[in-house]
Amino acid sequence: MADDCLFCKIANGDFNTDFVYENDEVVAFRDLNPQAPTHVLVIPRQHIATLNEIDAENSVIIGKMYIAAKEIAASEGLAERGYRAVMNCNADAGQSVFHIHLHLVGGKPMGWPPWP
Ligand code: 5GP
Ligand code: ZN
Repeated sequence: MADDCLFCKIANGDFNTDFVYENDEVVAFRDLNPQAPTHVLVIPRQHIATLNEIDAENSVIIGKMYIAAKEIAASEGLAERGYRAVMNCNADAGQSVFHIHLHLVGGKPMGWPPWP
């Protein structure tokens, strides 16, 4: 757990956040400022600041985050109609919380590309 990391504190239960999914390594909760009918953040319990810190040793967690995302998508009724599960890295991508997280978004048609 990193000091002063909002998502470490959420994963630790400090704010009594409702988890839509949790296991020993991953937790997921609804985004405070949803950008779609379903907008869930999937995070590892382990503190990793950005995608730039992923390496051979810690990369297994990425697959586990995607397993969580597809299970949540199914429980939200999105599996067949579709959804997006993306991670922003650093300033150009708009990362604002420096503890990696997948944005699982769906429930409406989305454009591609996602930038203006
Ligand atoms: P980023 O911009 O880093 O890719 O995404 C951070 C996300 O975290 C944003 O979508 C923002 O709305 C969400 N967020 C920031 N603070 C909180 C919080 O305290 N609780 C929840 N549930 N979401 C948060
Ligand atoms: Zn953290």
